[in-house]
Amino acid sequence: MDLGLNGKRALVLGASRGLGMAIAKGLAAEGADVVAAARSVDKIAEWADGQKQVRPVKLDLSDIGEVDAVTDTLLAEGGVDIIVNNGGGPPPGTAQAAERGQWVAHFEAMAANLFHMNGRLLPSMKTRGWGRIISITSSGVEQPIPNLALSNGIRSAVVGWSKTLAGEVAADGVTVNVVMPGRIHTQRVDELDAAAAGRTGKDVAEVARASAAAIPVGRYGQPSEFASVVVFLASERASYITGSRIRIDGGAIRSV
Ligand code: NAD
Repeated sequence: MDLGLNGKRALVLGASRGLGMAIAKGLAAEGADVVAAARSVDKIAEWADGQKQVRPVKLDLSDIGEVDAVTDTLLAEGGVDIIVNNGGGPPPGTAQAAERGQWVAHFEAMAANLFHMNGRLLPSMKTRGWGRIISITSSGVEQPIPNLALSNGIRSAVVGWSKTLAGEVAADGVTVNVVMPGRIHTQRVDELDAAAAGRTGKDVAEVARASAAAIPVGRYGQPSEFASVVVFLASERASYITGSRIRIDGGAIRSV
């Protein structure tokens, strides 16, 4: 299947490792020109390994000055066709323990600054009559995960924004969707397992085994399995999918 991504310009946020890196690699493999953004350009340069199609860009999503500067540069170059909204996850914690300052700081980096950046990049997509906006959230937006109050709350705001925007720009050829990872094997998941092992005094391998056993597929997903779905949503072939939330979770969410 020709995905029609050749020559499309994609911005992938949080692309130094994990899901963002896998998505950036997947888009580049389909012929897209990828602006890969994260706080460490060195880490992006490492995996990009000189590929002409991948341009590393320094961007800290918690810094609105950097968000605007990168957006200015992209607009001066004619804008982008595809945006993948991704970035770091907030620390774990209960709803009762989360402090106002944490809500505000993480909402800025995970939601407000992304909404602002997408809003500035949208007009050029609308002018061209083609665009794809895909936001990485979490299975927690459908089935809130205990002890991840900041993530459950803030990512739900991303879902509300995405669905509202989808209706506004559907007639302009711009699709807007959300993907929900369950447990995809990245460094972050290893770090979360290590933290859980520390909290419970269990062995990390035991924690990971129990976590995988709770997933109907019986294992963590691979970043490439996740990226394949995002690349498809970014493609020409996904032109009639908008305003949707797509689970990529090996069946982990129990509701239909
Ligand atoms: P990760 O921590 O491995 O990667 C996150 C990426 O975002 C990295 O490139 C990191 O450098 C970048 N980043 C962090 N803070 C940033 C900032 N302020 N500005 C710009 N970039 C920043 O996580 P991942 O496993 O690849 O997951 C990606 C996102 O999906 C995270 O938000 C994560 O919480 C969420 N998620 C992942 C899973 C999973 O199974 N992997 C499940 C649910 C939710």
